[in-house]
Amino acid sequence: MNRRDLVKGITLLPLMGVSTVSMGAAPSLPAERDFFKELGIRVFINAAGTYTFMTASLMPPEVVDAIRVSAKQFALLDDVQDKVGQQIAKICKAEAAMVTAGCWSAMVLGMAGILTGMDDKKVALLPFPEASGMKSEVIVQKAHANGYHMALTNTGVKIVMVETTEELQNAVNERTACLWFLNREASVGAIKHEAWLSLGKALGIPTIIDIAADVPPVENLWRFNEMGFDLVCISGGKALLGPQSAGILMGKKDLIAAARLNAPPRSGIARGQKVNKEEIIGMYAALDRYVKLDHAKEWKAWEQKIALIDKTVKKVKGVKTEVIVPPVANHTPSLKISWNPDLTTLTGEALGKRLRDGSPSIEVVSWEDKDAVKVTVFMLQAGEDQIVADRIAEELEKATKG
Ligand SMILES: *Cc1c(COP(=O)(O)O)cnc(C)c1O
Repeated sequence: MNRRDLVKGITLLPLMGVSTVSMGAAPSLPAERDFFKELGIRVFINAAGTYTFMTASLMPPEVVDAIRVSAKQFALLDDVQDKVGQQIAKICKAEAAMVTAGCWSAMVLGMAGILTGMDDKKVALLPFPEASGMKSEVIVQKAHANGYHMALTNTGVKIVMVETTEELQNAVNERTACLWFLNREASVGAIKHEAWLSLGKALGIPTIIDIAADVPPVENLWRFNEMGFDLVCISGGKALLGPQSAGILMGKKDLIAAARLNAPPRSGIARGQKVNKEEIIGMYAALDRYVKLDHAKEWKAWEQKIALIDKTVKKVKGVKTEVIVPPVANHTPSLKISWNPDLTTLTGEALGKRLRDGSPSIEVVSWEDKDAVKVTVFMLQAGEDQIVADRIAEELEKATKG
């Protein structure tokens, strides 16, 4: 097989029913060095979702190619951020954008930019904003404070919790640097997006939103820029399938420029959150691929996988299923599989362990105190839905009493 045949073969793979996510190495290729095997690292089928501890997502060929190609030449890191930032901003309808080391890093850098502006002296003084007369407080709704808000404190700011509009207005003072909003918890906080933005505008305080895991839908990439948030932070390595160590900070031009002042190649609090040209360009390739996808078709493919697993596991006596689609954050179909504890000897955790210890190893979401597991399909590679379905059915069948 010559190189041209190979390239042709690769572009044809999706038509042959191979997921565009799979690496799709042709059988005639020389064997790749298998580092996982060599190092004795367990690999598994990911039927759980985009969890950092499970290395989250697999980069599609477009992203891996972008990384490989951009590893071959030097460029100025600032030039790479400038040009990629312009393209990302165009796609996401933001004034400006930059690639960060994940959504957490986007929040650190966005916060730092708000505090320092374009003042190099202030950049050098973080994480001690108060000592140098910078603003030093961030207002957060209590219902939104689920841990990720702590990223902001990397800059030295204090978190001020509020629950109502009145509490927010009373909490604002000359030290208030910004209002942080967590999109995932919008429904449980008393103050919604529009009200949050109006308060920010009225008080002259910038607003920042965390939408880390909130595509799909694809429209969320621009929705919050258009709504008027000054800064928007998103993960690169969740459903976008970019590098796991990348994310995007986008929003107002002056704030992105100030965030860049706090980012590598310059020193400062985010020096340890370096993204190099390969990840920056990989992030761009992932975003470019994602916005061009046929999202309705993707959704249908996920539903088909869910249907196949559903049909297979329900053949086991006492097994019930429920399709769950989180309304926001990891908004993709998942299947809750539960069973009658009087008929089956397994807990959810015990089934999870059997799947993990089996061959191939499979990860699902499981609980110690529930007779259920949850399966998410958007990280499954071609053909893995059948394997997952068969293994779950097999273990439940084995554990059925009588
Ligand atoms: C995943 C996540 C983050 C962190 O994102 P990284 O890209 O892993 O840094 C922040 N906020 C929320 C709500 C998340 O789900």
